[in-house]
Amino acid sequence: MRLLLVEDDQMIGESVLDILRAEGYAVDWVKDGYLADAALGAQSYDLVLLDLGLPGLDGIEVLRALRGRKQRTPVLIATARDSVDQRIRGLDEGADDYVLKPYDLGELLARVRALLRRAAGRAEPAYEHLGVVIQPATREVSVAGEPVVLSSREWAVLEPLIARPGMVLSRAQLEEKIFGWGDEVSSNAVEVYVHGLRKKLGSGLIQTVRGVGYMVPKA
Ligand code: CA
Repeated sequence: MRLLLVEDDQMIGESVLDILRAEGYAVDWVKDGYLADAALGAQSYDLVLLDLGLPGLDGIEVLRALRGRKQRTPVLIATARDSVDQRIRGLDEGADDYVLKPYDLGELLARVRALLRRAAGRAEPAYEHLGVVIQPATREVSVAGEPVVLSSREWAVLEPLIARPGMVLSRAQLEEKIFGWGDEVSSNAVEVYVHGLRKKLGSGLIQTVRGVGYMVPKA
């Protein structure tokens, strides 16, 4: 999943970036409102973590522009603990949820997972599909009850596919979800990860749709 982190504080930004990347998300980081607005206009993200106090455009203006373009990207706003008014305003301007600063990183990750789950139209916290059980919170995967270990990149390929069974994602769309700005992308990376996933999870879970891309079939 590809996330946009909008945070002007260098130290906070670095720690959030590290923890999101460690969870297998591809993350782009921008430090002011104009760059956030430009990134959101240019690239499709699965979620935005939006600090509200920003140089340039403030977070509320970034949010308003996003919703003004009818973009449905889930938005998690970050506000100071004592600024209830900002949270109310943010939610009313189209944010989906908020997280308090200073961050509790465990809570931040849980809110990110909850928003991604809802954006995929699900309420249940685990996927069970064709004998494969996946727990996004812990990234535990099992096949017929046997645990399987996935690399973080394999996980990054599997998650968007299994989140929406029946939807085909092209190689380019999968690359967008697994690589952020500045990541080295080899031309056959997606094929390599799909190959690895098929070896670990069985060949039926991820199907190739010839000339189009990949999908997890509907159960
Ligand atoms: Ca700030």
